[in-house]
Amino acid sequence: MSNLLLTPIEYLKGVGPNRGELLRKELGIHKYKDLINLYPNRYIDRTRYYKINELQNNVAEVQIIGKIINIKTVEFGKGKKRLVATFVDDTGQMELVWFQGQKWVRESLKLNEISVIFGKCTSFNGAYNMAHPEIEAMSEHEKSLRSAMQAVYPSTETLNNRGISNRVINKLMQQLFLETQTLFTETLPDYLLQDLQLIPKKAALFNIHFPKSAEALAKAQFRLKFEELFFIQLQLITKNLVQKHKIKGHPFTKVGELFNDFYQNHLPFQLTGAQKRVIKEIRTDMGTNAQMNRLLQGDVGSGKTIVAFMSMLLALDNGFQACLMAPTEILANQHFIGLSELANKLNINIKILTGSTKTSARKIIYEELENGSLQILIGTHALLEDKVKFQNLGLAVIDEQHRFGVEQRSKLWKKNEIPPHILVMTATPIPRTLAMSLYGDLDISVIDELPPGRKPIQTVHRFDSNRLKVWKFIRDEIGLGRQIYIVYPLIQESEKMDFKDLMDGYESISRDFPLPDYSISILHGKMKPADKDAEMKRFSDGKTNIMVATTVIEVGVNVPNASVMIIESAERFGLSQLHQLRGRVGRGADQSYCILMTSHKLSSDSKTRMETMVSTNDGFEIAEVDLKLRGPGNLMGTQQSGVLNLQIADIVRDRDILALAREKAIKILTVDAPLQKPEHATLRSVYIELTKKKNIWNYIS
Ligand code: ADP
Ligand code: MG
Repeated sequence: MSNLLLTPIEYLKGVGPNRGELLRKELGIHKYKDLINLYPNRYIDRTRYYKINELQNNVAEVQIIGKIINIKTVEFGKGKKRLVATFVDDTGQMELVWFQGQKWVRESLKLNEISVIFGKCTSFNGAYNMAHPEIEAMSEHEKSLRSAMQAVYPSTETLNNRGISNRVINKLMQQLFLETQTLFTETLPDYLLQDLQLIPKKAALFNIHFPKSAEALAKAQFRLKFEELFFIQLQLITKNLVQKHKIKGHPFTKVGELFNDFYQNHLPFQLTGAQKRVIKEIRTDMGTNAQMNRLLQGDVGSGKTIVAFMSMLLALDNGFQACLMAPTEILANQHFIGLSELANKLNINIKILTGSTKTSARKIIYEELENGSLQILIGTHALLEDKVKFQNLGLAVIDEQHRFGVEQRSKLWKKNEIPPHILVMTATPIPRTLAMSLYGDLDISVIDELPPGRKPIQTVHRFDSNRLKVWKFIRDEIGLGRQIYIVYPLIQESEKMDFKDLMDGYESISRDFPLPDYSISILHGKMKPADKDAEMKRFSDGKTNIMVATTVIEVGVNVPNASVMIIESAERFGLSQLHQLRGRVGRGADQSYCILMTSHKLSSDSKTRMETMVSTNDGFEIAEVDLKLRGPGNLMGTQQSGVLNLQIADIVRDRDILALAREKAIKILTVDAPLQKPEHATLRSVYIELTKKKNIWNYIS
């Protein structure tokens, strides 16, 4: 890159130290090139001029030619002032109003000078006014580089108040182009430009800032979006290749006694086709000399646990230890109970380590881990503590990955010279487009089939006013011997209120379902782990009929006899959470139900969420809707690993471009992985530039 583009922004004509400081602080613009890469949010039509008598309330921004004939300061309320200017043209008059930066504005205003104002109009008591308008002298206005569509840049209140309006940014951008545009170099190979009919980089940058037409703008956007996604994919895929070739892993060459014995004699059920396929994928992957990094996606209840267990058997068969890490103590315990049953049949030494493991038990675990006699360790975050040292960890399974960050993943792996294979299991289905942009460095296996005999869960939406009917339904189900979950929201910000809701709910449920006919469990985050476990056990042993709980039961809990999930204030849950909760039922042979309780007042997003839940059980479909509703940044499962921090592309709207970018990146790396060919020289230098400054995870978190 040319040095000029690396010039500090304050040296640009029109910037200077003060504005430079503001641009740095407010928009992160340090150098010339950062300004070039400040892409507009939208564009407005500046070919049309309005007359004052044509104004209508709240239309989008308008521009008007006229002059200021009067300026005054008006007090309103105690000590509050606003600056008001009267603006006229040949059809009428209106007011321009400033609440902030009044001193600075007042100094810059000129009376009786023909000017162009630009902004949003509102009417108040029959008169029109424009707050914080942009003003430009007509003489200046005529000189400026004007295109049919004018860019509107991201801004901040501070910038506006300090006089760096959109017009100023536009001006700076023009200046920058005057000084530097001959220096913009192409970043993509010629053949790719031709193949995809992409416009050159220079033209794209020009048209993104000063579009000559809608068509030119569309081409510029396409080119820049493609480029952005392409280089990210190039990095992710390279990283994956490097891992495959360079990061050594333990080759699990044999399928041994434990695996075979289990497969032939102790399988508790027939594996589904999807489970078999996925086990094969994992086995093949762990059989090579490279480390496995695999994401196992499968809807709730699809049977990921047995896949994890059989993968662990492969590790054991090859003389290695294995561990499974769960996000909560409840879940770790459940895994431990379930897996111990299987492991004991094979005489495997399996133990559990969590925050509440006693010191004496810990000691034994540490010892056995180091001398290698402990074969499988189940646990929570406690597994990441320094004292936990495996003799030879061969496979680490991480359940419900969205609770663990990328860093934690690698923490496990630092414990050994040769890292263990990693299997990350998630029940949060991540749409493919998102998965491939986020986890380009992971391979993905999908269990897309539920075990046979499951009846799809029936989901209904009921208003609070129908509670009596819902309660009757519960009584009937309990009469049939089934168990019920009733879940209350627990959101961090309003924890106290939520807790009160939970307790109120518990009390009224206790009244409506009194002892001795009914018994009720309660589970929430404030309970001691031992009490939680005891309550959970009472429920799973069938000693209580109803479990009143917060979302602590969200993850992984398995009570096949529970057939009804009631979600209170369902409008307060996100889609993926609703889907997770619903997955707690439908685990046995009985018909299961999910009842979403809400108030009558629902936002349109909430309505969509309820309708989606009622209409489908398919986690991937739900994830797609969620992605559309919330945008990728808020999607569960992407929070910790973060989501692409993109400048121009949007992985939801631009998923087709993403797929194209990925395809091209793969194609190029397949024929020229280190980018050595002469036609890839430019690519290589851009790539090096990118990776030098930006670790790929900077994009992603
Ligand atoms: P998840 O993928 O949500 O972790 P689990 O592994 O907990 O699902 O499995 C859910 C339930 O389905 C468990 O009770 C498990 O024993 C059962 N299960 C798993 N695979 C099968 C299968 N192939 N046939 C019958 N039941 C199965
Ligand atoms: Mg599970």
